[in-house]
Amino acid sequence: MAMRQQDLIIAGRRQAACSGAVFDVLAPEDERVLAQVARADAADVNLAVAAARKGFTAWSALAPKEREAALLRAADLVAAHGEARLLDTLIDESGSAITKARFEITYTVDLLRTAAGEARRLYGDTFPNDNPQRLSMVFREPMGVVAIISPYNAPLSLLTKMTAFPLAAGNSVVIKPSEETPLTALALGELLVEAGIPGDAINVVTGFGADCGAPLTAHPDIDCIALTGSTATGTLVGAESMKRMRRCQLELGGKSALLVLRDADPVAAANIAAQGIFTHAGQICMANSRIVVERPVYDAFIAALKQAAEAIHLGDLRDERTQYGPLINRAATNKVMGHIEQAVARGATVLTGAEIERGLVIRPTVLLEPDRNSAVWREESFGPVASVVAVENLDEAIAVANDSDYGLSAAVLTHNLQWGFRAARGIRSGSVHIGMHAFQSNALAPIGGLGLSGIGRSGGKYSTEEFTELKWVSVSLEDDGS
Ligand code: NAD
Repeated sequence: MAMRQQDLIIAGRRQAACSGAVFDVLAPEDERVLAQVARADAADVNLAVAAARKGFTAWSALAPKEREAALLRAADLVAAHGEARLLDTLIDESGSAITKARFEITYTVDLLRTAAGEARRLYGDTFPNDNPQRLSMVFREPMGVVAIISPYNAPLSLLTKMTAFPLAAGNSVVIKPSEETPLTALALGELLVEAGIPGDAINVVTGFGADCGAPLTAHPDIDCIALTGSTATGTLVGAESMKRMRRCQLELGGKSALLVLRDADPVAAANIAAQGIFTHAGQICMANSRIVVERPVYDAFIAALKQAAEAIHLGDLRDERTQYGPLINRAATNKVMGHIEQAVARGATVLTGAEIERGLVIRPTVLLEPDRNSAVWREESFGPVASVVAVENLDEAIAVANDSDYGLSAAVLTHNLQWGFRAARGIRSGSVHIGMHAFQSNALAPIGGLGLSGIGRSGGKYSTEEFTELKWVSVSLEDDGS
């Protein structure tokens, strides 16, 4: 089969990078070269931002019902052609198991439909004035050109969420997808243009963080930045944004805790915990990588978790039974194995896993009682590794959950309403889920975190708030302006 070549999308049209440079996109499953993709730099970013500036004028002038209709057409296109146009790319490029890839497509349709509805909900406000001859109102307006910088782990649905809501509010976009997953982003960009969003409003610049993401972040003519990625990148992007006092929405890493309380059914809890950490090989920002178990159920829970982890099917990515596949690249695999080795060297017990299955696939790994200063407990491993610790009571469980610089998501397994809500109130994170694992998605939910997990929220009306500006407009009913 001929090697695929893929150009950038500038003003809705394909074009090569100004420099003519390309880079290889590898399949994580076997590290073969899938395609060569245009490698954008500052010159391409300039073209994309200029196009988006023009696109903003046209797109923001459309009636809400026209923006709604275009996003609904995009949803219909994904629903009708997602299997044919997106599924293989998602599996090959991001190493997704087919069930995860299908979930992304279905969720993408939900996100586009939800965002379409938001196009009609740019609500303003009025407020009373002590001078009865004056009226005060608040308009909600789009911001302009939104730079969108996305990660590799959910390259379709996350990018759709980051893009569709700003578009619904009338903004234009310049998308800089992860260098690991540009093909999915280009396929989504094409679908958005095909759905009738004016080409100038849709720009996709593929390339690396330093030579494409950084010039985009620093560009004087963007109005807002949305980054989903690591905390290290978020720190750079946030600092750069502040140089120009630009709003930025940062959805960053996590180290989410799952609490298993003494009344939980240990087998059910273990199955929930396993799903919450091993989905997509733990390459999920909200993965519950820290599991905190009350002593009375600890032994039964870890026995069941060992069984659940060892039952996970790690076969062909297109086999419906396969639960996860490879990590995104060799560096990620080495990092995760390094975290495991360090934890073991510092006294953690391996309950199961800690081995390579094949290539970049790491077996589901559970470590018991790691040193609380080891990387596996403190830092985001972003791999199929859970650490389990025992605690004496609910207060200690909440304290352990909060002993983290991150605060993205958390979960508590209990049948006791009061314990569940006490945990929900006590845990410092952007979301807490009772009776479920920590990785939950919903197109209407405010997704985001505290601390090193980022700034701002996305989803439904919360995205609309992030990607619009408020303007106070007042009027005097008197000729003398009183
Ligand atoms: P990353 O930070 O390495 O890269 C994210 C994006 O930033 C990529 O497009 C990259 O090219 C770009 N980038 C890198 N350096 C840059 C720079 N100097 N200037 C501008 N852009 C730059 O993250 P990743 O490894 O692709 O993704 C995994 C991370 O994303 C994990 O930390 C995960 O927790 C996080 N994530 C968070 C959420 C959330 O909702 N909070 C969701 C998914 C992933």
